Formats: sequence, C-alpha cells, structure tokens
Amino acid sequence: MSHTILVIAEHNQSALRRVTLEALQAAIDVVSGSSGTVHCFIAGKQEKELQASAEHLLRHGAQHCYLAVDEYHDSLQALTSLPPLLVVIEDLKPDFIIAGHTVYGRELAPRLAARLASGYIADVTAIRVENEQVLFTRPIYAGKAFETRLFQGSSPHIVTLRPNNFLPADEKNGELFTDLSEAISLANQPAAPLSVIVESVAKRISKGIDLTEADIIVAGGRGVQGSEGFKLLQELADELGGAVGASRGACDAGYCDYSMQIGQTGKVVTPKLYIACGISGAIQHVAGMSQSHTIVAINKDPEAPIFSIADYGIVGDLFEIVPLLTAELKKLQA
Ligand code: FAD
Repeated sequence: MSHTILVIAEHNQSALRRVTLEALQAAIDVVSGSSGTVHCFIAGKQEKELQASAEHLLRHGAQHCYLAVDEYHDSLQALTSLPPLLVVIEDLKPDFIIAGHTVYGRELAPRLAARLASGYIADVTAIRVENEQVLFTRPIYAGKAFETRLFQGSSPHIVTLRPNNFLPADEKNGELFTDLSEAISLANQPAAPLSVIVESVAKRISKGIDLTEADIIVAGGRGVQGSEGFKLLQELADELGGAVGASRGACDAGYCDYSMQIGQTGKVVTPKLYIACGISGAIQHVAGMSQSHTIVAINKDPEAPIFSIADYGIVGDLFEIVPLLTAELKKLQA
C-alpha cells in the first residue's frame, strides 16, 4: 500500500526544528518499500530562508516542498497557516498529515481535523506498519500505559509526534535528488490576516539547549532548596552538554523559572538521559519525563516514588553527589 504523506515543517525563520526532521524520518519509514511519497509544507516570512529550509528537507528525503510565503507567517500560528495549508491539502490529497506535538502542531492539528472532518491522533511516540495498516502508539494515563490506535474512515488522517521519540532524517535519504529547485513550489494562497496580534516576544536567553529537544536533562526539585542549588545542577548539565529542568515544586518555591517546569502542566521531555535530583516523583511530574530513555534518580529518601521508574537510583544527599559527579566528569574531559 502506498501512502502520500504531508509533513508540516517548523522552523525559527533560520533553522528547521529537530522535530520536523523526526517527522520527516517517520514519514519516510511509513512509505519505505512502497511507491508512497513524502511532501513538506513550510510557512514563513522570508522566501530565501524558506528555500534553504526546503532544500534541507529535500536533501534529507522529502520528495516535494510547498512554501507559503507571507508577512503574516512571521511567527508560526495555526490560524494564519491554515488557508495555504488547506489549498495544498486539496491539491495533494495526502493520506496522512504529520506535525510535531509542539505549541504550533498542537494548535494546528485539531483545527485541521475539524476543517477536514478527519481523525487526529496526538502525542504519538511510535509508528509501525503491520498488515498494510499504519499503527500509532501514544502514552495514556500520564505515561502509565500505552495504547495503539489506527484510523478508519476517509483520509487525510492527522498525527502529531512527541519530540525526541523518532530518529531525525538523515542526509543520505535524499541522495537521488539532482535538481532541488524543481521539487519546490509556492503555495499561492495568502495567509489569513492575524486575528490575534503578537505585540512583542520576550526571548529568554538560555544556554541554548531547548528542554524539549535536549538529549540530556538534569532536573531539580524542592530538594534542591534554592536557586544556589540549581547552580550545582547547571554545572553538571554543562559538563554533560545538557539542559536544566525542574519540578513544579521547585518552580512554585521560586527556585527557578516556570519555563523549566517538566510534567503534566509543564514540558513533556524524552531525553536520552534524565537525572532527577531531589524530586519525589509525583505522578504529575512523571507524566512529563517517564519516556526518557535512561532515568537516574538522586534522592535521600529510599522510599521516594521516583525510584520506582528510575533505571539507576542513588540514595543520598544531592549536595554531596552532584558535585562529585561533576568533578568526575571534569576529570574525564581533562
Ligand atoms: P517534593 O514532593 O517536596 O519532593 C522533594 C524531594 O526531594 C523529596 O523526595 C525529598 O526526599 C528529596 N530531597 C530533599 N532534600 C534532598 C537532598 N538534600 N538530597 C536528595 N534528595 C532530597 N509537578 C511537576 O513537577 N510538574 C507538573 O507539571 C505538575 N503539574 C501538576 C498539576 C496538577 C493539577 C497538580 C495538582 C500538581 C502538579 N504538580 C506538578 C505538582 C506535583 O503534584 C508535586 O507536588 C511536585 O511534582 C513535587 O515536586 P518535588 O518532587 O520537587 O517536591
């Protein structure tokens, strides 16, 4: 069975987000071994930058890219993206539409599903093809169980993928391409005028690693006892090339900013390594990090629930253990 898949790309006007390359690879895997095709839709303000992103996607295995260029696409918003996207969908008639389970994707996908009277499966962490059916797995009950769903009824079927759960597309996927420009077309439908205007964007200057895309996260809870304690975690994260996250307990206590909160009402993360320091492991926290590949917990209470989901547990005082870990890592780098 061959499928036509449309991937909705996301970028920060200069670079593609990693989740887009993950969605691209997931789409390529679904069509692999068939005559199915993978296309991308990308909206933005600057045509030159979109062209560069489109070429990147083509080199990584997309067959065709649709560019929607409009000043209203300055910041990616679902309502402005919808008109050109609907025209592309009408033209392409994709079987599946895949976006990242991000702020943009989560706003866009249900609106699309409503407009197209289509099904939508959110927060997908795995896709497999079995007996010609495409099956989508997603966590439920705050990550305590997984369910596998499939679509029925008419397409397009809409899916959002949880970041960091799929390998990003590789450059070798696209080696058959000779003339990239032929594979790019403009989606001529203008964007919808903004019904909500972004007055200003205050960019948080962080050490550059987006929590949702970080491979390594060192997270702190109420046990960290203050912003000074978080400096210890930052030092460990710096040694590991990771980012620092937090429990809501730590955010509520004013130890760190809410942008660092991980959990049910914070960010959902899936790093390769998650080091939880002074975090008890409440279900609302676990909902946002239980899919991490390897979980290390440091807690002085041997009964702390976090140990039940940890791959490695260290019972002890984080103020002794974290500096020791950092010092050992420094020795390795020396
Ligand atoms: P605590 O539960 O107080 O745990 C602190 C831990 O630190 C303890 O286990 C203690 O043994 C350990 N400790 C103390 N000192 C040390 C030391 N020196 N060394 C080592 N260990 C030490 N929480 C989230 O995190 N994210 C969410 O998104 C979220 N959403 C929520 C939504 C709702 C609707 C509700 C009701 C709650 C939500 N919560 C969320 C809150 C959640 O229920 C917990 O209250 C919170 O996760 C607890 O944070 P904590 O583990 O840092 O603090």
